[in-house]
Amino acid sequence: MAAYRYLIVGGGMTADAAAHGIRELDRDGTIGLVSAESDPPYNRPPLTKGLWKGEALESIWRKTGDAAIDLHLGRRVTTLDLPSRTVVDDRGDQHSYEKLLLATGAVPRRLPFGGDSVIYYRGLADYRRVRQVVDRGGTVVVIGGGFIGSEIAAGLAMNGCKVTMLFPEDGIGARIFPADLAKFLVGYYRDQGVAAKPGEQVAEIKGAGTGAVVSTKSGLTFNADAVIAGVGVIPDTDIAKVAGLAVEDGIIVDEHLRTSMPDVYAAGDVARFMSPQLGRRMRVEHEDNALTMGRAAGRAMAGDTAAYEHLPFFYSDLFDLGYEAVGETDSRLEMVADWKTPFREGVVYYLGGGRVRGVLLWGIFGKVDAARALIAAGGALDAASVKGRIQA
Ligand SMILES: Cc1cc2nc3c(=O)[nH]c(=O)nc-3n(C[C@H](O)[C@H](O)[C@H](O)COP(=O)(O)OP(=O)(O)OC[C@H]3O[C@@H](n4cnc5c(N)ncnc54)[C@H](O)[C@@H]3O)c2cc1C
Repeated sequence: MAAYRYLIVGGGMTADAAAHGIRELDRDGTIGLVSAESDPPYNRPPLTKGLWKGEALESIWRKTGDAAIDLHLGRRVTTLDLPSRTVVDDRGDQHSYEKLLLATGAVPRRLPFGGDSVIYYRGLADYRRVRQVVDRGGTVVVIGGGFIGSEIAAGLAMNGCKVTMLFPEDGIGARIFPADLAKFLVGYYRDQGVAAKPGEQVAEIKGAGTGAVVSTKSGLTFNADAVIAGVGVIPDTDIAKVAGLAVEDGIIVDEHLRTSMPDVYAAGDVARFMSPQLGRRMRVEHEDNALTMGRAAGRAMAGDTAAYEHLPFFYSDLFDLGYEAVGETDSRLEMVADWKTPFREGVVYYLGGGRVRGVLLWGIFGKVDAARALIAAGGALDAASVKGRIQA
């Protein structure tokens, strides 16, 4: 049995940030990491962005080994035994810990049909699979108009693929953007050569040769060399639930990123934490949260007593459009758009309970801290008074 002072379950960006966070305070304590992926930790955002714009694959590695850590790759932890402070992996090996971090992230939601002919785009293995199709100049159906769908559709179109995008909403990014912006994006994607089809729900996917045939409820049929789905993710809480940790759409953590069980921490996509700025628990599936919370969890395991109070931001690139966003950017909230140039440059404020809960900085960069300050201030603001609070 391998015995560690710190054991990390998961091999994503949170796990890497935690390992480096531990090393900021403890240079010598042993660290082990067990990851179901056979690759060491890497940056996920380039899988839909940079790698399709010519960035080298070598640029994505996070260099986790620099933290002097034992990497156990290609192994899934199946059991967490709290009384003996031990985890067991799917090869039957045991790893013991003094402090444990669960950084198990999230897994893609699956469609009830299509089996292995659908690529649920999440990791490097999925990127490698899609690359094989693209290198042949393929035809691709992308299911979903959210982050993953919109980004990979753009990346593939920029690489000469014939891309059809199917999504049930009226617009692209409809769950976060105002309706007019989401509809604008449909036209914008079409101008870039993507056959964007709003209002389409997939009814069936059948494997055909190396590709598949996709049928929609409205009766459309598409042949594709590859079918990629980005239909949301679910926090990977399996081992936490079985071990009896408090779980509620994510593993519940306190302000020190401790779970409901002693010496067990959680962070990143899998963790549900309290946001002091928004006054509610939230779970965030974005890079800044993974890196900042991962580092804080590592430091907390090594003795840091600072509370985690970071309000994470996120970002995306869609062809030559881009944005950054902070807080609750949910299109079910009241939205006030303040455009300098419509759909090219402007700020969208998300209001709820008489205050700003989120800010979308569309084509505007370097204003994330101003957006954070506006949300944290929590003062009474309405549609009439909020415009101009952040200057484009
Ligand atoms: C393609 C893509 C593009 C993205 N682009 C952006 C972007 O532009 N901007 C942005 O802000 N965010 C983006 N994100 C989101 C961001 O990358 C994630 O929020 C972040 O990677 C989450 O990191 P994590 O380590 O918490 O979880 P994950 O990355 O999900 O990692 C979890 C790890 O745990 C492993 N694991 C799970 N269960 C077990 C187990 N039982 N035993 C062992 N190992 C286990 C998994 O195999 C995986 O290695 C993107 C995500 C993807 C997939």
